[in-house]
Amino acid sequence: DSPVVIIGAGHAGANLAALVRQEGFTGDVILLGDEVHDPYHRPPLSKKFMGDSLEQPLRGQGFYDEMKIDTRFGSRAARILPSERAVETADGSRIEYGTLVIATGSRPRRLNLPGADAEGVMTLRTLDDARTLRSAVQRGGRLVIIGGGYIGLEVAAEARVHDLAVSVLEREERVLARVASHEFSTLLTDHHRVRGTDILTGVDVVGLATDGGAVIGVELADGTSIPCDAVLVGVGAIPNDELAADCGINCADGIVVDENGRTSVPHVFAVGDATRRPVGGDTMRFESIPSAMEQAKRVAACIAGTPLPGAEVPWFWSDQFDLKLKIAGLVHHGVSVCRRGDAGAAKFGIFHLDDHNRLVAVETANAPSFFMAGKKFIASSAVLDPQRIADPDTDLRSCLA
Ligand code: FAD
Repeated sequence: DSPVVIIGAGHAGANLAALVRQEGFTGDVILLGDEVHDPYHRPPLSKKFMGDSLEQPLRGQGFYDEMKIDTRFGSRAARILPSERAVETADGSRIEYGTLVIATGSRPRRLNLPGADAEGVMTLRTLDDARTLRSAVQRGGRLVIIGGGYIGLEVAAEARVHDLAVSVLEREERVLARVASHEFSTLLTDHHRVRGTDILTGVDVVGLATDGGAVIGVELADGTSIPCDAVLVGVGAIPNDELAADCGINCADGIVVDENGRTSVPHVFAVGDATRRPVGGDTMRFESIPSAMEQAKRVAACIAGTPLPGAEVPWFWSDQFDLKLKIAGLVHHGVSVCRRGDAGAAKFGIFHLDDHNRLVAVETANAPSFFMAGKKFIASSAVLDPQRIADPDTDLRSCLA
């Protein structure tokens, strides 16, 4: 078996290395990662980041040795040479591959505004970023979060729990506009506001005020200035697809892959946040752990020559205050909505149906049974009875029309 080289030791790359072995591949597996840490879980970085467990390794000590995975952490791939089936690293070494997997993830989008590079203006992707954020929250004062996406709202919740004054500034008319339904956005906005987070929507940030090189305020287009001690910019991520694009692999805001993670170049796969993948008849960047894992499983099966696992319903989760949120499917494919549960009691589900009453997405809070049932209904394209879904006395499993 000729070597498998994986570029990027995050969720997708590190899990893929393990899965390739579990599928029975016996050749060399080389895992290159430019971070110096052993691969770690990213989701905790925006959730309970004030607790003790900021660094949570993906695998226990000794795992990579036991699995005979050749890890090269702190090593950055600088160039791919597909015609020579080789990768060059930044420190000048050359690694030949039989199969290459690009798992380079994404990086936070930065603001191109006056003051955006000031001290105290942060982004959040890595363990080191999270340590900087934790120090800022420990110092207290007012934290302004630019961007009302999942990461921004999770950080807002944890910072409020630790008594910071928190403002979330969102350019769209509602938070989570790109990924959640109107109703889900409203419920979450209310949940935050009741707990003291100041959420401003439809606002345009035009600059950051500084004093002696440090941020002291955020300036809005309407002339308002919001004083602050620190700023977190959470305005989305840019795929790390340059390595791929530079060697001729087809990229379009992400490395374009098929349902098995194959790129446009032979012997080269890509997985995780760096990719644009087929989902629900479309292609998209689906930045979540379950998506990265699903891709890794399929690529591992392709490499090891074992049967492909079945397709999975896309899903992800988020934690905000006491809410455990789980979302499956594609919300924007729905045409009608029915609700189950009680937003006041913080246990609810929003079910999104298409024009044939088939479930296309479900958004839930503190309701794992709604989530599990919903995910199964989406997978089976079952036609549902909306009235029975909304009736709390009806067992969800009996909601088929
Ligand atoms: P990453 O985990 O980012 O790993 C990519 C790795 O490749 C990085 O270590 C990077 O440094 C390295 N790399 C890049 N270029 C090179 C190179 N040239 N050479 C070598 N190495 C390179 N998803 C959920 O489903 N639920 C959540 O609750 C959730 N919370 C999140 C919270 C935060 C703060 C963040 C940042 C993300 C969260 N996500 C969550 C998203 C999830 O973490 C990502 O979808 C997942 O990490 C994608 O895995 P990946 O391997 O593609 O990318």
